Amino acid sequence: MKTQVRPSNGTKTEGNSSNSRKREPEELVPSRYALQIGEIEVLVISDGVLPLPTAMLGHNAEPAVRAAWMSDHFLPPDAFDWALNVVMARSGGQTILIDAGLGLDPDLHLPRAGQSIKRLEAAGIDLSSVTDLVLTHMHMDHIGGLLVAGVKERLRPDLRIHVAASEVKFWESPDFSHTSMPPGFPDALRATAKRFINEYRDHVQTFEDESEIAPGIIARRTGGHTPGHCVVRLASGGEALTFAGDAVFAVGFDQPDWYNGFEHDPEEAARVRTRLLTEISASGELLVATHLPFPSLGRVAVDGDAFRWVPIFWDY
Ligand SMILES: [Zn+2]
Repeated sequence: MKTQVRPSNGTKTEGNSSNSRKREPEELVPSRYALQIGEIEVLVISDGVLPLPTAMLGHNAEPAVRAAWMSDHFLPPDAFDWALNVVMARSGGQTILIDAGLGLDPDLHLPRAGQSIKRLEAAGIDLSSVTDLVLTHMHMDHIGGLLVAGVKERLRPDLRIHVAASEVKFWESPDFSHTSMPPGFPDALRATAKRFINEYRDHVQTFEDESEIAPGIIARRTGGHTPGHCVVRLASGGEALTFAGDAVFAVGFDQPDWYNGFEHDPEEAARVRTRLLTEISASGELLVATHLPFPSLGRVAVDGDAFRWVPIFWDY
């Protein structure tokens, strides 16, 4: 599939002029949120939003029940904007980026996502300072930022990219038979994962079930969404935060058993979700997930047979 480089984001050097680094107008929406987990500095960054069909939120749910959930949340019935977040963390002298956003628009009309790299740099984080990248999985909205023109050249030659071995293996011959995606998506996901491996093979460090990326930062494979999907827990000084990747979507608290269209093993994904939400509701630790509304930081409460999302009050 043909891919297109996004329009200039104002961060790359452009030929002839001295004003190539000139400041763009400030954004009118908040797109980064900083917090401290013990000794670990954390920054949640919005990559933007992806408009996707609502049926993908629960393709095993009765359409009328799904429509009622959307209506109860004052959301439109057909398509709504999924948030897309990445996390940057600093611990023990390492700078760790967890996921890289969408990056390119692979001809799927997703022009409002792909902002992570620009926003990282706007936050004063030089790409060359990133020592480690953790990929929760290899879907294009998590790896695409690495494929934007000029990004690889600005990353360190010794950058380590941590990903589960089973994830890399899966994308050699991915199975889409249990997914439910709009046309074009499977091909774009296959092509992007392939391109990522071709370009970054030498940086990839695989792990089986768990890997300590930096002091207090542990990636743990959950499977489900994809076979090598992992979550990343950051813990220090008695505090902890889990970046859940795509184990949880906005609807997943009320309806943990709804199958998301991007899940390659939806039954296992539902079990992973329930297990994770049960753990996090018991511990009271913070949760961040890729597709929860920015800044996507909150806690989880038990609500009867299901769960309830409790967003944090922003701190300044
Ligand atoms: Zn995703």
